[in-house]
Amino acid sequence: MAVLILHYHEIWLKGYNRKFFISKLKEAVEYSLDGLPVRTVRHEENRILAWLDTSGDENPQTITHEAVQRLKKVPGIAYLAIAQEFPPQLDQIVERGAELMLKASFHTFAVRAKRSRKDIPFRAADIHHQLGRRIEEKAREAGQSVKVDLDHPDSTCHVEILNQRALVYTEKIPGLGGLPTGTAGKLVCLLSGGFDSTVAAYKIMRRGVRLCFVHFYGNPEQPGEDSPPIAQKLVRVLTPYQGRSQLFLVPFTEVQQQVVALAPQSLRILLYRRLMLRIAERIARHTRSHGTVTGDSIAQVASQTLQNMEAVGGVATMPVYRPLAGDDKQEILDTARRIGTYEISSEPFTDCCPLYLPKSPRIFSTVGELDAAESALDIPTLVKRAFDARRKEVYEYRAGKVNVQRSEERRSRYETAPAGMVVQA
Ligand code: ATP
Ligand code: MG
Repeated sequence: MAVLILHYHEIWLKGYNRKFFISKLKEAVEYSLDGLPVRTVRHEENRILAWLDTSGDENPQTITHEAVQRLKKVPGIAYLAIAQEFPPQLDQIVERGAELMLKASFHTFAVRAKRSRKDIPFRAADIHHQLGRRIEEKAREAGQSVKVDLDHPDSTCHVEILNQRALVYTEKIPGLGGLPTGTAGKLVCLLSGGFDSTVAAYKIMRRGVRLCFVHFYGNPEQPGEDSPPIAQKLVRVLTPYQGRSQLFLVPFTEVQQQVVALAPQSLRILLYRRLMLRIAERIARHTRSHGTVTGDSIAQVASQTLQNMEAVGGVATMPVYRPLAGDDKQEILDTARRIGTYEISSEPFTDCCPLYLPKSPRIFSTVGELDAAESALDIPTLVKRAFDARRKEVYEYRAGKVNVQRSEERRSRYETAPAGMVVQA
């Protein structure tokens, strides 16, 4: 039987709400381990413990490895470890701790022991001395020479003494950090298929926010370059971080045709962004979310100058979160590689027909200029029609796999309007 120890950090700051955060973390851990032979998940003395019953399995390592891979995607876990459980007695800890250490080879080592309670009849220092000495003895018997190095050890024997048990392990595995899913409410993320909004989604999910995704799509430039399959693949990769996701696919061609027909060319992208924001807010109200998330990064492209972000964001009636505002592109790409979305976002796709893109986009616009440029558009009708034409998909993470339910395709007037038609108010 292996015991997984899951430590949290930030929940410590939560004062009277701590119980709520811990119950959400426990729920997320149970959800993530679904389908594995878990005997119990319990909160005990400021950590979560999960017992994995690997006795009936031919390859227990595969199961613990799978459990760890899944837990690394659970927000709220600062670090985790696969531990052996012993009775909380000094002689047992010393003998069996030394055996565990000697399973791997090393030159330098350290022992780090923690007691969570003071009513244990020995001190952490006793473990440091006696276990350290026993490790040296056993190594000598095996013909190895090892020595203590408290600053940069090759290997560390961690001992955590709880009331009922001693837990011993040699590796601390970094977790995702952040806060448990469902502790911060919901937001709607504008997910383009590109690198940035995907990384923005990941950063916000780590803070305990549940995201609903919205993707706007137009006609592809080349056959096979539709953008919805990219958004769908990305949501599959992102869903394990929150357990369950909704993706709204919203057709955008007609909005673009209206903007092209009725507004100045150089402002097109900014007007598309304003309309996306408004439609996303409509979805936010529909899903009881508290705002929107975008992948904007200051000055990365022309639409992301401070002036243009002010001019576009001027129509927002809910908070817009831009978690990448201060990130460099390289940092964003590194994160995309780490979370496994880089390859997907690198695939060719077009979410906006190039014909509808301006030759030279405006770099510094204003709220007033965009308001004036929109005056010929019937914004409420455009927003309503796009909202009504949405398609919803639900992604569920169960037993380590993501399953999708697709709603019936809505064939609204909007989606079926002939290409080039200018929708009248
Ligand atoms: P990304 O890499 O996320 O596409 P970007 O740097 O290419 O971002 P823009 O294309 O200007 O920047 O888009 C800015 C933000 O607007 C995106 O990060 C995303 O949040 C939103 N957005 C843009 N296009 C779409 C789309 N087709 N569907 C949903 N959201 C979009
Ligand atoms: Mg983009």
